[in-house]
Amino acid sequence: MERICEKCRHIIEAEVCPHCGSTETREPAADDPCLMTSTDYSLSVMLSESLKLKGIPFRMVTVELGKYSVTRDFYVPYSRLEEAQSIFSSLFREDPPVNDNWSDGFGTGLFSADEIDQMDWSGLDDMELEELKAYKDKISKTLKEIKAMERLWKERSNKLLDMKEEVENLIDELS
Ligand SMILES: [Zn+2]
Repeated sequence: MERICEKCRHIIEAEVCPHCGSTETREPAADDPCLMTSTDYSLSVMLSESLKLKGIPFRMVTVELGKYSVTRDFYVPYSRLEEAQSIFSSLFREDPPVNDNWSDGFGTGLFSADEIDQMDWSGLDDMELEELKAYKDKISKTLKEIKAMERLWKERSNKLLDMKEEVENLIDELS
């Protein structure tokens, strides 16, 4: 039986809220606003547009404003929660599958993890092999780090573009 936490508005399946520890929980009513998810700025824009498009009422609350980040909570009525959640997950399904080739975008100078694994090390003696294995792990780790950095920069530049758009909209509204 689903319940709602009066304090943090999570939908839960226990008497005591596992999110905030509150015991003020009860059966949800159809129009109870429920906490659906927290998103960053770009995702909040996509999600709010999608919910608007589907006619699902929602409340978007900015809960955290960092120097480079925004966190927003989404609340939807209990009766529309499932629908809203499936819209939310469809935002991710539309993304192309993640390409796990770490060297993507770095030209041919770098090896992918698969290529490293497939290399033939058989001509080396044991000590060289151990060294090479350690080296290989180091390369893999560095490639992972580069990829993570690249992702971070992509997110940041997306965020900047979003902000630019928002500012341009504001300027439009003001003029
Ligand atoms: Zn709670």
